[in-house]
Amino acid sequence: SLSIGIVGLPNVGKSTLFTALTKKGGLAANYPFATIDPNVGIVDVPDPRLQKLADIVNPARVVPATVEFVDIAGLVKGANEGEGLGNQFLANIRNCDAICEVVRYFADPDVVHVDGRVDPAADADTIQTELVLADYGTVERALPKLEKEAKRDKDLKPRLEVAKRLYEWLGAGNRAADLDMTDDERAAAHDLFLLTMKPILYVANCDEDQLADDFAPIAGQAPIPICAEVEAELSELEPEEAAEYLASLGLEEPGLAVLARAAYRLLGLQSFFTAGPKEVRAWTVRIGAKAPEAAGVIHSDFERGFIKAETISYDDYVTLGGEAGAREAGRLRMEGKDYVVQDGDVMVFRFNV
Ligand code: GDP
Repeated sequence: SLSIGIVGLPNVGKSTLFTALTKKGGLAANYPFATIDPNVGIVDVPDPRLQKLADIVNPARVVPATVEFVDIAGLVKGANEGEGLGNQFLANIRNCDAICEVVRYFADPDVVHVDGRVDPAADADTIQTELVLADYGTVERALPKLEKEAKRDKDLKPRLEVAKRLYEWLGAGNRAADLDMTDDERAAAHDLFLLTMKPILYVANCDEDQLADDFAPIAGQAPIPICAEVEAELSELEPEEAAEYLASLGLEEPGLAVLARAAYRLLGLQSFFTAGPKEVRAWTVRIGAKAPEAAGVIHSDFERGFIKAETISYDDYVTLGGEAGAREAGRLRMEGKDYVVQDGDVMVFRFNV
């Protein structure tokens, strides 16, 4: 499933946030493996449409889409040279689809700051420098091989050219993702598995009374305000108590829910649904994905043997009271392998085994 690595300097609240993520309170109770890896936490992507569908279908269970968060400890100055947990840490980030960087905004003088002051912009710079340096090293090590290959096979020349451009770009302290590249160049760069090619979102770990503040953008992006301590407390509460506590803070939902949705948006993802008596379920698929790819999210057999997808848009499904009503109204479509899945589609896949 979709995975997001949590990084940040020491003492900024990563563990606190992660503990909140992995506690049960409102979190992915349906996920059977949630407790296997202590460094992995599964979070539901809240979607009010699921309940609307469930009201129509009355299924045995409702299964939301999930995002997986991975606690990646050990990012300190010098990590790219193997300081701290160094290489292990970098390898762990490499395996994630995106990065969530926790930045300290809370003041609490009792919590020591590694650099002696609370300075979000400087902290974000420190992290970016480590990631950029790590990538710089990666490209540097890859270049000799790419040169050799490009000599042997002219078709590989573009790959070498991209690597050279990236080398210079990273050398000047920039993120790989910010380099102007054609789609082909991007694909070539992908093979280098660079950390700074990954989408990144920033969490402003702030004090309760800062939650409504607008923070200055970090690297052009508004950070998501979350109070990790509040989240940790919320995760310990029963749903009713949690709702009261949220209301007392003037919040509509836990910051973790906001975070999960932001991650979804950042990664260009959307949901489609399956709805039957056994379960109503949200599945995650790329925006722009075609029907067979969506089928493959459920099972690889569905993709391999894909014939067609019986598709009802979410609005039609709800307005017409479900599948039978939609069918009667002529709103159930037979879509083929070139159909581009739309957010909220309710789908049934037909396939050969
Ligand atoms: P990590 O090193 O980034 O994993 O940081 P921790 O989660 O271990 O937090 C470091 C310290 O900061 C702990 O003593 C936490 O209790 C405290 N802390 C974390 N989040 C907050 C917060 O939102 N507000 C305050 N005041 N303290 C926090």
